[in-house]
Amino acid sequence: MVKRGACGGCFNSIPPQRQAEIREKKKIIVCEHCGRVLADVEDQVIVEKTRR
Ligand SMILES: [Zn+2]
Repeated sequence: MVKRGACGGCFNSIPPQRQAEIREKKKIIVCEHCGRVLADVEDQVIVEKTRR
């Protein structure tokens, strides 16, 4: 899980371009720092507007 633009395991920051690739789920993205599979991106503040 990517949280707030960073790896949920080691908090290594993930570039926006890579976050987009994770969202698309076309390929498996692995954290460069800890080697975790980044399977999903936690939605950020922007999503709260669309939920209403
Ligand atoms: Zn990591």
